Amino acid sequence: MPVYLDHAATTPLSAPALAALTTELSRSGNPSSLHGSGRRARRVVEDARETIARAAGAHPSEVILTSGGTEADNLAVKGLYWSRTSEDARRTRILCSAVEHHAVQDTVEWLEQHEGAQVTWLPVDSEGVIRLDVLESELAAHGDEVALVTVMWANNEVGALQPIPEIVAAASAHGVPVHSDAVQAFGSVPVSFSASGLATMAISGHKIGGPVGVGALLVGRAVKLTPVQHGGGQERDIRSGTLDTAGVAAFAAAADDVVGHLAEEAARIGALRDELIAGVERVVPEAVLRGSRSRRLPGNAHFTFPGCEGDSLLFLLDVAGVESSTGSACTAGVPRPSHVLLAMGLSETEARGAQRFSLGHTSTAADVDALVAALPEAYERARKAGMSGHASSIRTAGTGFA
Ligand code: PLP
Repeated sequence: MPVYLDHAATTPLSAPALAALTTELSRSGNPSSLHGSGRRARRVVEDARETIARAAGAHPSEVILTSGGTEADNLAVKGLYWSRTSEDARRTRILCSAVEHHAVQDTVEWLEQHEGAQVTWLPVDSEGVIRLDVLESELAAHGDEVALVTVMWANNEVGALQPIPEIVAAASAHGVPVHSDAVQAFGSVPVSFSASGLATMAISGHKIGGPVGVGALLVGRAVKLTPVQHGGGQERDIRSGTLDTAGVAAFAAAADDVVGHLAEEAARIGALRDELIAGVERVVPEAVLRGSRSRRLPGNAHFTFPGCEGDSLLFLLDVAGVESSTGSACTAGVPRPSHVLLAMGLSETEARGAQRFSLGHTSTAADVDALVAALPEAYERARKAGMSGHASSIRTAGTGFA
């Protein structure tokens, strides 16, 4: 079995989620049907909605079930933008952090290119935390033109936790709704939708031990969203489409489990993560930890390794049986420096040596030991391959590097 250090990409199904999924998959019924099977499926969905709401600190009517985090982010950002501009045509500005996941970033860029949005990318400091002073001055200068503010709760690459209460307070003073992508935060750190004051918040099943392909957008009861997807009018007419009863039930089981054990697991995983950081720094002193030492997701460790491509290091670690991530997007096999690291002030060269190790519910001390044992040789070889040789040339070189 490989050593899995990529829980931020997806984490294995938890036992309660697997049990709920397999039970429901063997049953049938469309929750919108009126007969007995439909009513049974509806009960499962509504119980699950209550469980998800409880886990996320929301009211059940605020849970809009979706196919995952990407859809929830699209619905929030487009839905808020269209609803706000239709009420007041001047509100075409979007204030968006410079370190968002592509599910938000590309949605905002699409609105800029196709719907006339004006975008302010809110800068972050060297640890990846949003500059509140810039948010406040943007709101002071253009408050009545702002459609929405969108800032993620926790960053998927460097694990930075954002000051959500301060962001919401600043935006509320100007009557501006805030969306937060809490896909990485939910289940890892305490998250309460109602306490946050957010207008909308995205969460996803497969990051918390649920299945891939299910998530939710939490939508405040007074918040108006223009739907993105039209059809049968499910989910308060905000998100049409037949609900995936089995997926929803499993998502709820995972949410209940993960939030029920959050404090112990965060402490356990956080301690393992600290060992991992100390181990990496011991065996590769050149490695630079990115993000904050204290204010980060418990399962996240992110480094840049000078003089090598993150992609090469990933491949060489994979060959050694350790699965990690560069943390950033790769288009057609061509590594692109991470927009998150560039926003934190790294040079393109520094950003190219990025490697994210993320821990989760199946992680153990043996996983950390395996990484620490494999890393020096993998780094040495990746460094020899240099900055030009990304994974494809290493693969071509075959056993020369592996
Ligand atoms: N937002 C963040 C911060 C993520 O890390 C991810 C997944 O990588 C997503 C959104 C997308 O979620 P999903 O895979 O459920 O579409």
